Formats: sequence, structure tokens, C-alpha cells
Amino acid sequence: MDQGIQRSEAIQHIRSRTPVKSSIDYTQTPVSEIFGINVFGRNIMRTLLPKNVYKSLTRCIDMGEPLDPALADIVANAMKDWAISKGATHFTHWFHPMTENTAEKHDSFLVSGVNEGGAVLEFSGKLLIQGEPDASSFPSGGMRSTFEARGYTGWDPTSPAFLMESTNGKTLCIPTVFCSYGGQALDKKTPLLRSLEALNKQAVRLLRVLGNDEAKRVTATVGPEQEYFLIDEAFYLARPDIINCGRALFGARPPKGQEMEDHYWGSIKERVLAFMMDAEGELYKLGVPVKTRHNEVAPAQFEVAPVFESANIATDHNLLLMEVFRKTAKKHGLRCLLHEKPFSGVNGSGKHNNWSMADDQGNNLLDPGSTPHENTQFLVMLTAVIRAVNLYGGLLRSSVASAGNDHRLGANEAPPAIMSVYLGDTLTDIVLALIEGKKELKSKRGAVTLTFDVATLPDLPRDDSDRNRTSPFAFTGNKFEFRAVGASQSIAFTNTVLNTIVCESLEYLATEIEKLVVGGMDSTEAAEKVVRTTLKANQRILFNGDNYSQEWHDEAARRGLPNLKNTVDALPELLKDETRQLFEKYGVLFGDELNARFNVRISNFCKTINIEWQMARNIAATMILPAALEYQNRLASTIVQTRAAVNGINTSVHENLLRTVTDKISELRLALDRLEAAVGGNGGGNGHHGGEGDQVILAKFYQDEVIPAIDSVRASADDLELLVDDSLWPLPKFQEILYIY
Ligand code: ADP
Ligand code: MG
Repeated sequence: MDQGIQRSEAIQHIRSRTPVKSSIDYTQTPVSEIFGINVFGRNIMRTLLPKNVYKSLTRCIDMGEPLDPALADIVANAMKDWAISKGATHFTHWFHPMTENTAEKHDSFLVSGVNEGGAVLEFSGKLLIQGEPDASSFPSGGMRSTFEARGYTGWDPTSPAFLMESTNGKTLCIPTVFCSYGGQALDKKTPLLRSLEALNKQAVRLLRVLGNDEAKRVTATVGPEQEYFLIDEAFYLARPDIINCGRALFGARPPKGQEMEDHYWGSIKERVLAFMMDAEGELYKLGVPVKTRHNEVAPAQFEVAPVFESANIATDHNLLLMEVFRKTAKKHGLRCLLHEKPFSGVNGSGKHNNWSMADDQGNNLLDPGSTPHENTQFLVMLTAVIRAVNLYGGLLRSSVASAGNDHRLGANEAPPAIMSVYLGDTLTDIVLALIEGKKELKSKRGAVTLTFDVATLPDLPRDDSDRNRTSPFAFTGNKFEFRAVGASQSIAFTNTVLNTIVCESLEYLATEIEKLVVGGMDSTEAAEKVVRTTLKANQRILFNGDNYSQEWHDEAARRGLPNLKNTVDALPELLKDETRQLFEKYGVLFGDELNARFNVRISNFCKTINIEWQMARNIAATMILPAALEYQNRLASTIVQTRAAVNGINTSVHENLLRTVTDKISELRLALDRLEAAVGGNGGGNGHHGGEGDQVILAKFYQDEVIPAIDSVRASADDLELLVDDSLWPLPKFQEILYIY
């Protein structure tokens, strides 16, 4: 039987697909009535909780004040009644282990059976505040042995509880932290919350030093733009590599990639738009403020971005978004791929992490206003970020290191692995004037108006500076955009790092300015002086040019900026003394907690490559090779039969083709042999290895030996894809997957 039949069946299947309707009809229920209906948010709490309880809870959420545990019973009861009235039967502590996903274990509200008086539904303060999941099967990075199974989840009152809907009911989800029996953070939320507290403390202190007595609290605000691919489920199911690894391990570059630039911001196909609106509706219900949607650069690639929120909630919401997108795609006969590089040859997917700081009055601390050169507070905050990225660029880089993201960073579609800061022309003028000690700081670039030379078109005001799409860390008007995060990654750790390194700079600046003020200098003058010297000392990180260019790579090397090309190079940044001191100083990660993050991530790298090489071998040996051999066989018989049919006929062209195919098959088989020989002794490395040193050795081995061996298997296989009879080819091709849906 022709193996290619699966492919043509998949295409037949897709022909009959139609856009799927969502359960929400906005003509019946306007979006304002849907938004947040599944969230135990402020509106609900205000109506259901006694005034004093509501007040304590909002003080906890807004001002970071501790919550009296005695109030938990009251909150729990209201939460339960609300959830049950909306159809919930179960609740779960919803947490964020050291993976890229969330975890949940559901419990019903039932506390007794029929013999004890029928169904009694209860949810106590204790159940709200604390859970005790078995922690033994979550990654601990060596912080616990498997026999020490106990772990605890603890309620995070600052992130609202919500109802997750599924086909047959609803579950009350309570965002929680997760720690070990010994109290060590086993999750990504705890360090994030700690970093936010540290940032608040130093930011408020600095604001006071600058004479700002109004701001009582500062938080980081985050808006993550999420890129993703959608492919038809029929193709997905015929690609064991995409099912198991999240990406295609094989596939020749399609004749049409993204070079026509006809997909980006193109009109959104009906079936895709139906999916987007459906997923957005589900997210509205969960209070996730999704805002933008568009086609991205690569065929079959898209983007969604929310309105920014405080970092903790933005992180929870991005995790929810990824989950809702995956689920909803299935409902539409599609699959949502969040891998950083599902298809080589076209762009991969990232997550632009927009980051700023805001005070409790809603002021954005990175808003330059109309006269940035006179805005001391802004210049101080800007300087803090610049210094942070300069001093801890390696750490920031390591926060996004993963096997998947290695395919993307530095591949001329995403920022390089070299961290630098883009400020744009106007701010650069101001910063340079400061550094050079000029009196006049104002940028000479005035407001510019754009005219179109068409009488009916109005003139447009032009922005102060252009955008720079190649910078990993770009100032975009009133926030920084960190573009190196991978699409599948949680943004928790990146923001933990950002908050902590900026916090360290805020403290540095506050201390330096204070010293001058104590010496009798006016605080504005002191701030300007400190800003000047700090910018001067950290200016090597500033770069406005093309980050993809070779010139920049050379220049960055001259400036001594680290270029941590891949995960194996980047992760050891976590183990540096300065990193450890930084995290300990601000109470973000202590001792083993930091090692654990390193261990989990480096073994995750090893495990990923381990899965990928096995998958590559399986597909090459059992799907591609047999198809190629069948084609070889057909060619050979054709030659024999042709000769038998016509005496003396010239079959040299056919023989050449047979030779080419046979050579490629040999090449593939030899590449497979080399792959298997490479992994020989180390095969099955599953990450359960001893110390950090061993982990690095294993990871280096995967990086230097196994990845190139997988690559050469792929190269031969992809060549064969372009030789073998199409009807024999077992895997859906990129020219189909990326265009048919
Ligand atoms: P662009 O293409 O210009 O990056 P998008 O609208 O795609 O614009 O995304 C911008 C993202 O930045 C949005 O998620 C937005 O909410 C977020 N953002 C805007 N202002 C801030 C801020 N002060 N802090 C954090 N994120 C912000
Ligand atoms: Mg952006």
C-alpha cells in the first residue's frame, strides 16, 4: 500500500471542514457582560463579602499587606457558594511547577456520603489556604529525594480564583504557590512574587529619595505578545514528530516560504478567525484582557497580545491563554503549536515580554512624558534598567535558554543571543548629552509631520523615533520590550530576573543619590549627577543598529558583551556567584532553590534532545527509509523490465537516477548509524544524573555530538523527500501543512 495515502486522506478530510461556531453570541450578550464572568474578582467579592473582609482582601492585593488567616473561612465560603451557583462541582489549587505548564488536582466539594446525611458540600478556609499535593513527581531539581513526597500549595490572594469550563462542568481554580516540606520554592510563582516585593521596596525608596511622596507602592507591569502556529489536526496526527516533540524534525524547505510577505497582517482566514474569536471569548470569561490578533510573518503563524497587567497576573493569564488556545484549537480541528521553531525554513515563534513599572496611582514610571530631558524621575528609572541589563545581560539571556529557543535566537528572525538595549534616536540624544556632560539635554529632533502629497489625506504626526525589530531589549515609547522569550516558555522566570536586576539597580541609584543629598546637594542635581556617571559606566550596552549584522557581533565582542550562543553556554550564568548573591540579597531564591532551577533546566535540555534523537531515528528508520527503499525497488524493476521489453534500449538516465537515490539512501543509513554510535554509551540519558558538573558534561555532549548527528540524518532525509515518488512519501510536507486549512 502506498504510504502517501495518509497524506491524501488528510487533505480530503480538511476539504470538508467548516468554521466552528463558538458558544458565545455577542449579539445576544455584549462582551461587557461576558468579561470576567468566571472570575471571583473585585465586583463579585464586593457584593459577596462582608465589608471588612473585602477591605482587608483589597489591601492585601493592592498594597501587599498580609491577610489575616482568620478571614480565610469567610472568603472560602463565599467563593464556594459563588462557584456552586455557577455550576462548579470541584475545586483545585492551580499552581506553576518548574515546568512550562500549570498543575491541578481536582477535589469535589463533597465532604460526606449518603449514610452521613447526604451530600454536604464544604470548602473551608484551610482548604482555600493550603493544599498538600504529592510533590514527588514534579521536578525539584534535586531539592528533594523521591521518598520525601510531601509538598504544599498556598493560596495567592493577589491572583483571582476562576472557574475553568469544560464540556461537562466547571472547576474552581485557586492560584497557589507550591513549596517543599522544607519550605523551599518548587514553583515559578513564589520567586516571582518575592521579586515583586523586592522591586516595590527599592522603587518606593528611590522615589522618596527623589522627593516623590505620593507613590506608596510600585509593581512591574507586563504585556506578553504571544506568537503561535495553527495547523490542521489531520496533518498533525500524521506527524509523530510534531505530536511528540512539538516540532517537525523532518521536512524539506517548501518552495514558497514567507518571502512573498503576503501572510503578515493579511486578511484572516475564516476558519482561523472563528478559532480566534472562540478562544478570545473563553479568555474574556476568565478575565484575560486579550486585545490584538493578526497573521504573523510565517505562513500559518499568528499573534495575540493582551492589555498589560501586573506581572503576577500577566503571568497567570499568559499560562491560561496558552491552555485555552491549545484546547480551543482542538475543538476547531486545528492544533496550536507553541514551539519556538515548529518548521525550519520559516520564522519561529517568540513571546515579546513588554515590561515597565507603575505606581499605585497608575503612573507608568517609564513614561518619558513630553519633555523627557527635564523628567528626572524618568531618567533615573531608565538608567536603572540600562545598568541592570548591562550588568546582568548574561543572566537575562539565561532566563530564556531552552532547547527550543536555541533554534530561534540569533537565526536572523529573532534577536541574537547578545543582549543590548535600543533607545531610539531621541532618547539616545538625551543620554549622549548626559554622558558628554552637556548643559542642553533636549534632543534637536523636533516633532515631524508626515505629508502624503495627496490633498485629501491629512498630515500625520511622526513618532520621535523609529522602531528597531532586531533589538532584544528595545524601548518602545513607555516600556521595554524583551523579545528573546520563547513562545512555549512561561514568562515567570524572565520577569523574576527583570524585577530583581532592576531592583538591584534601583537600590544602587538610591544609595548613590542619598550619599550626595546627605552631603548637602539638592536631590535633582544629585540624581542628574548619578545618572550621568551611571550611564557613562554602562553605555556599552546601548545599540541602535542592526542586531542581526556581523558588524554588530564584532562590535559587541570588542565591547566585551557576552554572546551566550546556546542553552549549554547560557545556563551556567545561573550558578555564578554574582547571580547567587543577587538573588539571596533580595530574598528571591536561596541556596538550593537556585541550583534547582539550573538542574531542572539543564536536564530539560538533555531530555528534549534525548527525545528528539530517538524520534528522529524512529521516523527515519521506519517511515522514511522504507519509502525510499520502495522507490529504489520500483526504479530497479523499471530498468529491468524496460530492458526486457526493448532489446538494447538505453536506460542510462534511469540508472543515474537509481544511483542518486541509492546513494542518498546509503547516506541516510550511514547517518543513522553515526547517530546511534554517538548516543551509544550515553543513550537514554534521562537527566537523572549526579551533580551539576555531570549535567553540564551531558548537555555539552548532546549539544556537540548528538544535535549535529540528528541534523545530518535530517539533511539526507530532506533530500530524499525531493527525490522519492510523492505518493510514497509518508509525512505531510511543509507545502501542505503550512497552506492547507
Ligand atoms: P507592538 O506591536 O507595538 O509591540 P502590541 O499591541 O502588539 O504592540 O503589543 C504591545 C504590548 O505591550 C501589549 O500587550 C501592551 O499591553 C503592552 N504594554 C503597553 N504598555 C505597557 C506597560 N506600561 N507595561 C507593560 N506592558 C505594556
Ligand atoms: Mg511588540
